[in-house]
Amino acid sequence: MTDYIRPQPGIMDIALYEGGKAHVAGLSDAVKLSSNENPFGPSDRAKDAYTRAVHKLHRYPNTDHAALREAIGDVHGLDPARIVCGVGSDEIIHMLCQAYAGPRDEVVFTEHGFLMYRISTMAAGATPVSVPERERTTDVDAILAACNTRTRLVFIANPNNPTGTMIGLPEIERLAQALPKQAVLVIDGAYAEYVEGYDGGAQLATDRPNVFMTRTFSKIYGLGGLRIGWGYGPKAIIDVLNRVRGPFNLSTAQLDAAEAAMRDRDHVERSRDENTRLRAWLAAALAERGVPSDTSMANFILARFADATEAEACDTWLQSQGLIVRRVAGYGLPHCLRITIGDEASCRRVAHAIGQFKGQKA
Ligand SMILES: *Cc1c(COP(=O)(O)O)cnc(C)c1O
Repeated sequence: MTDYIRPQPGIMDIALYEGGKAHVAGLSDAVKLSSNENPFGPSDRAKDAYTRAVHKLHRYPNTDHAALREAIGDVHGLDPARIVCGVGSDEIIHMLCQAYAGPRDEVVFTEHGFLMYRISTMAAGATPVSVPERERTTDVDAILAACNTRTRLVFIANPNNPTGTMIGLPEIERLAQALPKQAVLVIDGAYAEYVEGYDGGAQLATDRPNVFMTRTFSKIYGLGGLRIGWGYGPKAIIDVLNRVRGPFNLSTAQLDAAEAAMRDRDHVERSRDENTRLRAWLAAALAERGVPSDTSMANFILARFADATEAEACDTWLQSQGLIVRRVAGYGLPHCLRITIGDEASCRRVAHAIGQFKGQKA
């Protein structure tokens, strides 16, 4: 009588997360540009640290993540006591929802926002509230209009995935200032390192009691496979998250690799410079071939097509050419394809293949 065994209300309404495709049937050497991974991989120092961790496998990891938090604090000029580390920023997002949102509470995010906001909200039994964007860009007034006495969390990714667009810090500050007093603004800085001179919202999270920042090692650090993220904000929120966090949520290998990666600033800088250069090149090359995109501040481009049919046909063609990009219909953008900025050869291949696709139709 399995009818008696039921999950909490709302759990079965969660749509399963679908990751970027990793393979094309029949092709072993396809280029994967579907998950915003760093084409140069992680720092060699991170790889060495990971390898050395093999000698400590019988030991439990430390629970306070002190060395990693100190490295993050040194590099970003932040108080390590206000940092919490998790299994990717996904876990930080999850802990925020678990700790701050429950039945009858609302969590606000934007219509083309990261899918994990909805998933973690529903897992906590809270109600997701999706608000419109303006020209595929976060609209502070629309967010404020959606807030009320039930709003507990507001998530914005800045730059956003999958649009690549971002809003300025004064706009974010205006949002933080005008939120209902029981709501926390979470600024997801998964792509912050790609924006020269942008602190990801760190200063706001330092100064304001209602702003929290999340960051990840999955994107510019090239460690998506290892699952490490972190959050920074008011001490009171850190104290709450540490109560729901599993004491051994990060393994020794994760902690050691992340610490080494954080301290290798050359690798981060090189990755950002290459991304900036190739992103400009690819955006211009696609525009020339009749495929526009918004100015992206991240490590991908959201290519726009005439309609969903054309976007799907182009995706199919790219796959036949050994190129895997991301369909984003699940993000409310069926006429778009998200293309990660790969290395130079991959960018040239994508531009060439999309040119062929457009040419065939003409
Ligand atoms: C990739 C991404 C993350 C990172 O998730 P991890 O769990 O750290 O791998 C977070 N937010 C956004 C918007 C992303 O695109």
